[in-house]
Amino acid sequence: MYRTHSNGELRLENVGQEVTLAGWVQKTRDKGFMIWVDLRDRYGITQLIFDEERTSKEMVEKAKTLGREFVIQITGEVIERVSKNKNIPTGEVEILVKELKVLNKSLTPPFTIEDETDGGDELRMKYRYLDIRRNPVKENLIFRHKVAIEVRKYLSDKGFIEVETPVLIKSTPEGARDFVVPSRMNEGQFYALPQSPQTFKQLLMVGGLDKYFQIVKCFRDEDLRADRQPEFTQIDCEMAFVEQEDILNMFEGLTRHLLKEIKGVDVADFPRMTYDDAMRKYGNDKPDIRFGMEFGELNEVAQHKEFGVFNSAELVVGIAVPGGNAYTRKEIDNLIEWIKRPQIGALGMVYVRCNEDGTYKSSVDKFYTEEDLAKWAEVTGAKPGDLICVLSGNAHKVRTQLSALRMELATRLNLRNPAEFAPLWVMDFPLLEWDEETNRYHAMHHPFTSPKPEDMHLLDTDPGKVRANAYDMVLNGNEIGGGSIRIYDKATQALMFDHLGFTPEQAKEQFGFLMNAFEYGAPPHGGLAFGLDRLVAILGGQETIRDFIAFPKNNNGRDVMIDAPSHIDDAQLKELNLKIEL
Ligand code: ASP
Repeated sequence: MYRTHSNGELRLENVGQEVTLAGWVQKTRDKGFMIWVDLRDRYGITQLIFDEERTSKEMVEKAKTLGREFVIQITGEVIERVSKNKNIPTGEVEILVKELKVLNKSLTPPFTIEDETDGGDELRMKYRYLDIRRNPVKENLIFRHKVAIEVRKYLSDKGFIEVETPVLIKSTPEGARDFVVPSRMNEGQFYALPQSPQTFKQLLMVGGLDKYFQIVKCFRDEDLRADRQPEFTQIDCEMAFVEQEDILNMFEGLTRHLLKEIKGVDVADFPRMTYDDAMRKYGNDKPDIRFGMEFGELNEVAQHKEFGVFNSAELVVGIAVPGGNAYTRKEIDNLIEWIKRPQIGALGMVYVRCNEDGTYKSSVDKFYTEEDLAKWAEVTGAKPGDLICVLSGNAHKVRTQLSALRMELATRLNLRNPAEFAPLWVMDFPLLEWDEETNRYHAMHHPFTSPKPEDMHLLDTDPGKVRANAYDMVLNGNEIGGGSIRIYDKATQALMFDHLGFTPEQAKEQFGFLMNAFEYGAPPHGGLAFGLDRLVAILGGQETIRDFIAFPKNNNGRDVMIDAPSHIDDAQLKELNLKIEL
């Protein structure tokens, strides 16, 4: 037996017992004739004492050879500590060591394995197995496990069954770029790794499984933005014989369950907001509604005066920053610089100070009277002491810019309280989205999403106006899940592919299997997928998903620990028919 107890277990009531413990040497304190060692494992830390008088000189000598992160096994007696440590659960006892065995030595670790470490990101990723010994990382992985268990519990109780779908599938041009895998046995042909099990879960519905879920790895070969991983995990779900309402209720239930079980939080309200409203009120399809600062559209009250910039703008829109009148001129200038950075790209910002005495002072006083500005305050909901920030220009662009400003200011003002959870559904997304690059419409969600029946007639005349039966679950300003009611008849699916610019041959070649299946009694169905990594990070009150992934990739999509991706040798390339002979 390697151990009788873990290192997080022993208490005063164990005093007098002989125990065997195993673990890593966290640190040693050498007093010459007495040595203390902190022994660590997943469960905690137990203090060991080696004492010349009470055991032997040899024991102490042996203890002196121990280095950080050595793996040892000891046997000894639990004794009461003279100076107790109230900060750890085992802090009232220590072990008087009688036998010591070094199970394995360790090189000096490249960073300190404590809650606060001196290791930088890359170094910790390279030695991730050491990083995982640290409490914050270990706790995150345990936390992720708990979330996954609760997901499985809830869905299983509701009659969902977990089904595994293939990882080697067919490459399709829709959506993001695929990772591909060369087939050795089929010369010149490739598999793709799934971006999601979308078509398979729909086929499971045709197969009559009725309620499916899977906690599943998905792969997207996208240019990596901060905090994106090329492989990530989804809680993927699908249901048959449902309407949108059934799906919203089911997964509202899952979200409530998780918030309750994991965070002890009861969500009172689960608001629903249309995509159009979200864009108008927050400039964003994933609004953080934990705080106000809703957009006020100022066209009516700010245009048709002398100010040309506003007059020529498609949209003039502002937000009231609570307490923002306290900003100095310099602080406001910094804000303007911030919003003019290329990442945000605003051309400038007009501002109005709302003085405590009810008067206003703006950067465009030349053009507007106090009465005008009072109207701006009314529209944006600004109170005395606030600052109104106003942007103007192309509607879509200024909304995006003002949304970025809103989030930045909320962060600076500490309005984004990680202990507060404000989920909502954003619904009625546009079915199609115009893509400037390819000059054609793309499916905003994916090509299997059903248009709203009442908008079908617009498909030919005004495709951009057609709304979809698609929905996103948003939590604290993050999209944590999204899905749709699906098309389930061949004709509509063919029509959809047609609108997406597929020829009938291309549609057949890419998605013939699905359209065929639709001819054999496909039931009405729909579903959604949650991003597990992000969900766990948000529930854990943190922003970076990498901290909740055991072995994450860096911002260049590399695993710096195993050094992947890597070159493969010529023989292997040849075998895969990838070697181009010159
Ligand atoms: N497959 C979709 C996605 O990965 C989710 C869904 O429509 O169920 O975003």
